[in-house]
Amino acid sequence: MRQRKLWMFFVVLLLAVPLCSQAQPNLAELKKEAMHAVDARQVFTQQMVDQIFSYAELGFQEFETSRFVTDILEKNGFKVERGVAGVPTAWVATYGSGKPVIAFITDIDCIPRASQKPGVAYHDPIIEGAPGHGEGHNSGQAVNVTAALVLREMMEKHRIAGTLKVFPGVAEELLGTKAFYVRAELFKDVDIVLGSHVNDSLGTGYGQTFSPQGLVSVQYYFHGRAAHAAGAPWDGRSALDAVELMDVGWNFRREHLRLAQRSHYVIINGGDQPNVVPSEAGVWYYFRELDYPHIKDLYELGNTMAQAATMMTGTTVSRRIVGSAWPGNFSKFVAEVQQKNIEVVGMPQWSEADQTLAKALQKEIGAKVDGLKVKVDELKAPSPETEAGGSDDVGDISWNVPMVYLRYPANIPNTPGHSWVDAVAMATPIAHKGSTAGAKVQALTALDFLLSPDLVKQAWDYFHTVQTKDMKYTPLIGPDDQPAIEFNKEKMDKFRPEMKKYYYDPAKYKTYLEQLGIQYPTVRK
Ligand SMILES: [Zn+2]
Repeated sequence: MRQRKLWMFFVVLLLAVPLCSQAQPNLAELKKEAMHAVDARQVFTQQMVDQIFSYAELGFQEFETSRFVTDILEKNGFKVERGVAGVPTAWVATYGSGKPVIAFITDIDCIPRASQKPGVAYHDPIIEGAPGHGEGHNSGQAVNVTAALVLREMMEKHRIAGTLKVFPGVAEELLGTKAFYVRAELFKDVDIVLGSHVNDSLGTGYGQTFSPQGLVSVQYYFHGRAAHAAGAPWDGRSALDAVELMDVGWNFRREHLRLAQRSHYVIINGGDQPNVVPSEAGVWYYFRELDYPHIKDLYELGNTMAQAATMMTGTTVSRRIVGSAWPGNFSKFVAEVQQKNIEVVGMPQWSEADQTLAKALQKEIGAKVDGLKVKVDELKAPSPETEAGGSDDVGDISWNVPMVYLRYPANIPNTPGHSWVDAVAMATPIAHKGSTAGAKVQALTALDFLLSPDLVKQAWDYFHTVQTKDMKYTPLIGPDDQPAIEFNKEKMDKFRPEMKKYYYDPAKYKTYLEQLGIQYPTVRK
């Protein structure tokens, strides 16, 4: 009897040994370790923020940014596939193997004419008229890559199974790529997508908002017949007439459209000179609505208007979809997991200099002067009111994989967006600290899902039974549509040689502010 007990004891011991050697620290300890590791990389995060700020590249032309970020990922053990989905500046960087697969995504493009010296609370461009990070997309990869590198180290050290993927949001300002990513099945094996976007607060959200966030962005090209505008106008057919009649028709019809729609256009080609009947003219429309069926209806109405304009003018029309976006539909389940981490991480400690810059900028533009936010956002249900709202093509991803979109506090509140104003903070301690906070939340949320396959399963159950129960994803792009990869090339070619002189050199300068010789903060006396 005693011998048998002893034998049993050895069996138990043998079974226990391999279990012990694989034992991981618990989740709380791992999260603490991740927070410290992100803090230890503050200089790395700051340099990424500053570097990409100095590249300031418009959508589809993010070549320097793409090279810079993929080099970092490759040097840190990620396998990088470049030029995915037919987009030269896009990539997928992968580390690890097996399930779960956690993907990070964030935008990299900037805004036309938003060049601005960081840390200066009034309009003072680095280069007049040049593009600039007047949306703050320069900070996103710093957030996601910092988190990904910390996770990679921890996965290796603690033998945590799973795969990390890092994506860029190329040409987000053109709503130019995510539908193509989805079409190329880049998210086919992905379990959870953790997106991040610059903001003035730390928070997340879920569900569909009641604002016109989905759209088709389409260019109509009218083709007529050239003629001498005085000598033989009867021989000409004006493509510009067709553009104008389409616009007039649309503006009359606008009265009888749903309140929820938003539509706007710019004439991209109005002909060459008045004495030549324009044989070519073009107009670019955004058709925004609340959901897929209404977006599709609005877009089809636009096509009808274009067709009608050709009948009035004896011209023909062709068209090209150059962007599209489904409205966002983020996962409540994943957001609730993320919210707990947001509350653990909390807001950055702003210095007096940070608050001085924020308040001086708010005063400069005539906005409410209340400085930087000091409290994280609560998790709220989407507003039932129809509100103003822009679009973001990550919407397409959110209908295909459980996804959340973290807002991290790297910018100043009460700014107008898409302008030099929104570039002011983006290579200062405000952006650096906000990005570190964002990286922590990303790392902690990834750990939640990496260590608990059950959470992944629940996120997918919620995705199927609630989130996408009533509507399934159908792309707004057609099978023959191609990404508009030639867009912005001329604009970038014009400014790049001058901009190169201002690229950040971290070997010589601690920060970009130091390189530019800017006193932080610089405010009006
Ligand atoms: Zn954006």
